[in-house]
Amino acid sequence: MKPRLDFSAESRMRVLVLTALGTLFCICVALLIDSYSFQEGWRWGDRPINNVIIPLVLAPPFFFVMLSKLRELAIAHRELLHISTTDSLTECINRRAFTLLVDRYLDRMIASKTRRQGALLVIDVDHFKKVNDSFGHETGDAALKLVADTMRSQVRESDAVGRIGGEEFGVFLPGVSKEQAEAIAERIRSAIEKIDFLPAGKPYRLSVSIGGSAFDGNSSFSDLYRQADQLLYEAKRGGRNRVRFLAANQAVSMMH
Ligand code: GH3
Ligand code: MG
Ligand code: MG
Repeated sequence: MKPRLDFSAESRMRVLVLTALGTLFCICVALLIDSYSFQEGWRWGDRPINNVIIPLVLAPPFFFVMLSKLRELAIAHRELLHISTTDSLTECINRRAFTLLVDRYLDRMIASKTRRQGALLVIDVDHFKKVNDSFGHETGDAALKLVADTMRSQVRESDAVGRIGGEEFGVFLPGVSKEQAEAIAERIRSAIEKIDFLPAGKPYRLSVSIGGSAFDGNSSFSDLYRQADQLLYEAKRGGRNRVRFLAANQAVSMMH
């Protein structure tokens, strides 16, 4: 939700307030210059045409145009950032943004020497090729959107859901224990199994396999990803539509 008094770089209010302040500043400077005479020293400026009227005519359009352009730049920057970090089909963050986000979180944790828990889930839709082959690519796209929406509905706002490949997703869960992460993964799996997906008017059961790796202290994205990916393939080999985590005593490397 936007704050009531929006003074961000994208707000009209900021353009108007800064235009007024800029104009006032120009009037003050003009008044100051007009109030000094090399012969008489300081006295009140007596030429209002110089110290009020000229700044009042010139400054507002100058500040207004300049600040409006800066506002347009701020809006364009936000839109470009959204485009460059978001997957247009599922509205999840894309692989690059997801990797960066997790990497930064782990780097900050190492830099601040704090020991935090968390987990990375790698989620792959089961037999997705069959969905495309049976119902067409567009229906496949609709299924991917449903899967992404369902995943997002099962995690907190502070968690990150990224599309890291065609029908492969990553979920980063900062601040959760291994047990909590396993429960969340199971919740995601079960919610996806229950999706009302009706291609060609008939119910079709979607499912995902999930590999998860939890960390408790120092870890890197590549280690977490490699491990979760291996476990994902164990889940596939084990029959799909299941969650695999490492056993309790096998959490990824510790901070000493
Ligand atoms: P598995 O259970 O082993 O993961 O089987 P799978 O069929 O899901 O795996 P596979 O890697 O063979 O197929 C993935 C399919 O996902 C193939 C590809 O066409 C499809 N796919 C990838 N991206 C998209 C997309 O954006 N839209 C659609 N409709 N299909 C996609
Ligand atoms: Mg798949
Ligand atoms: Mg895949």
